[in-house]
Amino acid sequence: TVESGDNTNLPPKKFPKGVVLGADGKPCRSCTSVASWIAMAKQKTQNPVSATTTTLPAETASDLQQPSDCPPDVEKLGWSSWTLLHSITATYPVRPSQELQQETTQFLSTFSKLYPCWTCAQDFQRWLKEDRNAPRVSSRDEFGRWMCEAHNAVNIKLGKERFDCDRWEERWRTGWKD
Ligand code: FAD
Repeated sequence: TVESGDNTNLPPKKFPKGVVLGADGKPCRSCTSVASWIAMAKQKTQNPVSATTTTLPAETASDLQQPSDCPPDVEKLGWSSWTLLHSITATYPVRPSQELQQETTQFLSTFSKLYPCWTCAQDFQRWLKEDRNAPRVSSRDEFGRWMCEAHNAVNIKLGKERFDCDRWEERWRTGWKD
């Protein structure tokens, strides 16, 4: 399925399953998995004439190997983002000031709007808006558990396993006990 941003008036283009388009109508790298990106690049290599009509980025044919200094795909971006977010909870004060709590809530709202994968961002904003999912930031443990639940919501959406949130601190702050 090809998903698109603000481009509903654009003519349909042929992209492999899983390629997500951005608001400019071009494939959104940070919204698409490496596998779909490579499939798109292969399509271009195998059928260069039709590919020229689908406005593929120039670099796709040459980066099938995905060197580590390529722009991130949806998974690399996600993994790096969760690493940052959980690490923030791990170093969050045990007793944060009121001011920091407000700033943290604001940060999460801004983060959800700026997240580079727009489909992910939209779903995350929707999740955040539900009353029961309001950020809990009054202590390190609360914030760490809340982030774990946020991550689990995405895990479940993607058909992945739910993480045991009693172990968030072992995973992200102290290291495993055994
Ligand atoms: P990740 O899910 O990135 O997890 C990294 C590590 O965190 C794991 O190895 C594990 O040790 C640990 N972990 C896993 N779950 C938890 C948890 N609940 N609490 C604490 N630690 C945990 N991808 C999409 O394809 N579609 C989306 O809509 C989407 N939305 C996203 C929204 C946000 C806000 C973010 C940050 C990412 C989103 N992603 C989305 C990316 C997705 O969540 C994964 O990061 C990506 O699929 C890579 O997964 P992974 O298996 O490498 O591990």
